[in-house]
Amino acid sequence: MINITAIPALQDNYIWVIHDGGQAAVVDPGEAAPVLDFLAKNRLELTAILCTHRHHDHIDGIAKLREVYNVPVYGRRHSGNPRIPGNPHITDDLREGDRLKLAAPAVTFGIIEVPGHLDDHIAYLTPGSVFCGDVLFGAGCGRNFEGTPAQLLHSLQRLAQLPDSTQVYCAHEYTAANLRFALACEPGNPAIQQRIEATRRLRDANLPTLPSNIALEKATNPFLRCTRPAIVQTLQQRGLSDTSELGAFTAMRIWKNGFQAA
Ligand SMILES: [Zn+2]
Repeated sequence: MINITAIPALQDNYIWVIHDGGQAAVVDPGEAAPVLDFLAKNRLELTAILCTHRHHDHIDGIAKLREVYNVPVYGRRHSGNPRIPGNPHITDDLREGDRLKLAAPAVTFGIIEVPGHLDDHIAYLTPGSVFCGDVLFGAGCGRNFEGTPAQLLHSLQRLAQLPDSTQVYCAHEYTAANLRFALACEPGNPAIQQRIEATRRLRDANLPTLPSNIALEKATNPFLRCTRPAIVQTLQQRGLSDTSELGAFTAMRIWKNGFQAA
């Protein structure tokens, strides 16, 4: 039996722990202390570290964890872009199409490359779950720091093609703020209203809004809904002329960067 639990870290990060009751893998440990606490409290032994991308809030706990547990660190060592530094923590390089088979916890992941937030971003797929770092968030998506908006859109489209029931393990608790933007994009979408209520109840109880799932994201996430007439209309009112999916996506991503919810 595999359990997946969120360890809150830093401002609003989640470090996901995948464990079988004895041995554990962690995804994106931006901090060591909360992970070591969790492992001790639950009598777990760390056997693997999985990285989605090289941002500090996802990797800064690795060195300290490895002083205690000398375990492999999986991820993309270098994106291949010579102007961009690699991830020096990676011991086992993963690429598109690779399979990562952990012995304990016994989980096998398929690897897909999902650039557009950072060039080196990968996602870990296992039947029923995806660990997608900072590419897809609850009702939102990551910023386009490296690569093109087209790459980010393509990465999101690949995630959106996963089965509807796939649980989406994002690396940040951004859902409430993202939903305010989603509502500005699509004020008449009742699924967004419902999710705002559900999110408020969870956050009032100090619970994570994650994992999400692909069906809920397709119903409420404006970045997966760029061709919906209501969204295109909102963007046109803001001056959009290129109403292609990429045109709408690019305009929405730029708008979101400066969006302050009222
Ligand atoms: Zn990031």
